[in-house]
Amino acid sequence: MDRPPEKYLAVLKKYFGFNEFRPMQWKIINSVLNEKKDNCVVMATGYGKSLCYQFPPVFSQGVAIVVSPLISLMQDQVLALKVKNIPAALMGTAQKDKSTAMSEMKAGKYRLVYVTPEWCTSDGAVQLLQEMASGQTAKLTLVAIDEAHCVSQWGMDFRKSYRRLGDLKLSLPGVPFMALTATATPTVQTDICDSLHLSRPRMSCTSFDRPNLYLSCSIKGSSIISDVKSLFDSQNSILPGIDKGSCIVYCPTKKKVDEVATCLAGNGYKCEMYHADLSLSVRERVHKDFVRDKVQIVVATVAFGMGIDKPDVRCIIHYGAPIDIETYYQEIGRAGRDGLQSHCHVFYQQSDFGLSKHFLSTLDSQYRNYKERMTRVMERYLQTSDCRRKIIVTHFDPSATVEDNDNCCDNCKKNGQKSAQSAPEYDLTEDALLLLKAVKLLGGFYGLQVPILLVRGSSNKKLPSKYCDSELFSKGYDKPEEYWKLLGGLLLREFLLEDKFVNRNGSFGQFPIKTVNVSRSGTDFINNSSFRKMCVLQP
Ligand code: ADP
Repeated sequence: MDRPPEKYLAVLKKYFGFNEFRPMQWKIINSVLNEKKDNCVVMATGYGKSLCYQFPPVFSQGVAIVVSPLISLMQDQVLALKVKNIPAALMGTAQKDKSTAMSEMKAGKYRLVYVTPEWCTSDGAVQLLQEMASGQTAKLTLVAIDEAHCVSQWGMDFRKSYRRLGDLKLSLPGVPFMALTATATPTVQTDICDSLHLSRPRMSCTSFDRPNLYLSCSIKGSSIISDVKSLFDSQNSILPGIDKGSCIVYCPTKKKVDEVATCLAGNGYKCEMYHADLSLSVRERVHKDFVRDKVQIVVATVAFGMGIDKPDVRCIIHYGAPIDIETYYQEIGRAGRDGLQSHCHVFYQQSDFGLSKHFLSTLDSQYRNYKERMTRVMERYLQTSDCRRKIIVTHFDPSATVEDNDNCCDNCKKNGQKSAQSAPEYDLTEDALLLLKAVKLLGGFYGLQVPILLVRGSSNKKLPSKYCDSELFSKGYDKPEEYWKLLGGLLLREFLLEDKFVNRNGSFGQFPIKTVNVSRSGTDFINNSSFRKMCVLQP
């Protein structure tokens, strides 16, 4: 597309201080202003989503409504706009504030009004917006829906109040709508557009790659503090000075947050904790102290999430496996928004996956299958010996390619060193064969635990005694349980094993249990030695 006409660039410079639009920004803005089109915008963090909805009302001297799920996020944006001399308001929570703000809005006092989804689907608001759309008052230029993945049941952070925004769209024919998010797979994108009734929307999608994030994972060690200390030491050698920067440590439970924060504080780190059980005033203080660099580390649950607009978060640690790949991508999106090198590390152990599996078993079946796939990709991400960045990027966009990057991930670094030294690779064929045969012998009635008991020759009662006479019994006694669990994970990821939930009658009634069985390729692997050669397994 040609360079934008001068009149647009003049407004861009005057109010926003930029000389040029980024390529996608201009296409989106042009389609709103000149074609009145709906847009679905999926842009990696830091690309510049805000300008896409802030520019149109400023240029056309109209009003844009911005729906956002978080008051703190809205407050920051309103303040930033005021500094730029762009009149903006937040629909207050008190009734008096609301009616004043509504009349001021009608009178054209603001260019941008930030609102909650609850407010803009209320009767009074819909009526006001309809008046504005019909041009009886200040002109409604645009309705923007930020963090639009909250519309979708398939995305994380689903919010019921967002779902009703589809009705608002139907009440405002002719007003362009713009849905914006940083994370959405093709499934979620379709769900967003359908739920919001967007009319033949323009789709814009940037690459999901964040080349300035170095990705790594390791199995949890003997103690929290030795794990974190050795991580900080190793970070310093990869990215000097990074260990002194701001850091978020995510934990799966409040109990773990407490444990990790207490341990870090006890070892001299300036850290605070954050989770949903703390009072609002404590949470606000922690948030502010973190943004103002008064604390270096915040140990938190997922509750420390959207709205952390701190550009220089240098490190995101997960102490425990993240629940699924989309949640993980969203959480590491908070690192390195200033474009400088940052580090994202996960400490995990095989039993961490039990937590997410328990959570999955509480979901309805269609949604559960979707979430299960996301969880499986997370497991693959953690256990792969291949490029981790590739797993993330191709999950969101299967056709994407990943460019070579020296600071990509621990595996690329290791593989680079390996090829330089031509280090040997381990062939796991014999052990894989043993575990597959054990699963087959047990007939697909159990999870991974029982076949592992069998190959390790365990006397645990969970292994029915008739299998103690099998020729497979104790053939793998020389390797620890954790090794066999990791190998089982590898066989699942390589689709040689498959797992499914089955309902069993237990003392608590029907409850689903995860079982593993040998897949078709797994059977080929057992029966056909030439197939095995094609299917090289490496740790
Ligand atoms: P996102 O919401 O996509 O994470 P933001 O809207 O917060 O991104 O913008 C990210 C950064 O990019 C901000 O610092 C913003 O000032 C800057 N930015 C946005 N658009 C432009 C532009 N056209 N030229 C230069 N900088 C820009």
